[in-house]
Amino acid sequence: MNDFSGNLKLALPNKGALSEGAVNLLIKAGYRCKRSGRELVIRDAENKIDFVFLRPRDIALYVGSGIIDVGITGIDLAMDSGAEVETIFPLGFGKSRFCFAAPKEKNMSIADFNGLRIATSYPSLLKNELAKRNLNCKVVKLDGAVEISIALGVADAIADVVESGATMREAGLEIVGEPMLHSEAVVIAGNSETAKRPEVALLIARLTGIMRAAEYVMVEYDIERSKLEEACKITPGIESPTIAPLSNPDWVAVKSMVKRKESNAVMDQLYELGGRGIIIMEISACRL
Ligand code: AMP
Repeated sequence: MNDFSGNLKLALPNKGALSEGAVNLLIKAGYRCKRSGRELVIRDAENKIDFVFLRPRDIALYVGSGIIDVGITGIDLAMDSGAEVETIFPLGFGKSRFCFAAPKEKNMSIADFNGLRIATSYPSLLKNELAKRNLNCKVVKLDGAVEISIALGVADAIADVVESGATMREAGLEIVGEPMLHSEAVVIAGNSETAKRPEVALLIARLTGIMRAAEYVMVEYDIERSKLEEACKITPGIESPTIAPLSNPDWVAVKSMVKRKESNAVMDQLYELGGRGIIIMEISACRL
């Protein structure tokens, strides 16, 4: 008998731009999903989840058909698959843009694309965009390395995913027009009911904690009691800061979460006010 038959099935990309980020995030969230080799399924008995490693392109299809409960994939791949899936949680990594590009020296605009051959690994997304823009182009479907297709003579322009833009630049291409789509890694489900399953709700709570933790750091400092009220205005914390007595009765220690991007300015203000022994600590996860 299979003890795991009731487990939630969660699909992860077995390669590609989102694969490592997805596994690392889940490990941080306390899940056992690290592959030691080329395993297709890893069972996390404690969390009642089976992690199924699939080709990134297939994840939305499995989730949409109900064979797999939830998956981590890119918005771009999910949309291109045409599968009926819902984004239940955006993960904030793997951010990219789906863009047209053409040889830099040709200085093209999108209107010039009519009648041209456009190579892509996202044929459905591209066809929809061409239809929207009333462009009549030949779509050349490739599996990857789309940037080189123009130099190799199979296409005149491309439509591809861009992160930093370095690959495009190296290939002598430039982005043409505005991005057709902004993408990032997301958790998808076949329907919103799945999101209510306890294993999914817990997964989302843990992932939220990790993402929130990345936005904050913990600041700890000593301050004279007479300046405490002013100091608490600088570091109000989430509920309110923790205040602990020191052996010197005129001083207290204060501990508070602050936004990471504001942490240096907060340290400057605290020091200016008379705060001393100011330290900043990383938070690996939190539940607020
Ligand atoms: P970049 O040079 O940083 O613009 O990266 C672009 C290359 O990496 C392209 O070949 C893309 O196919 C691939 N890539 C980068 N990020 C992603 C992503 N989030 N999703 C899918 N492919 C990506």
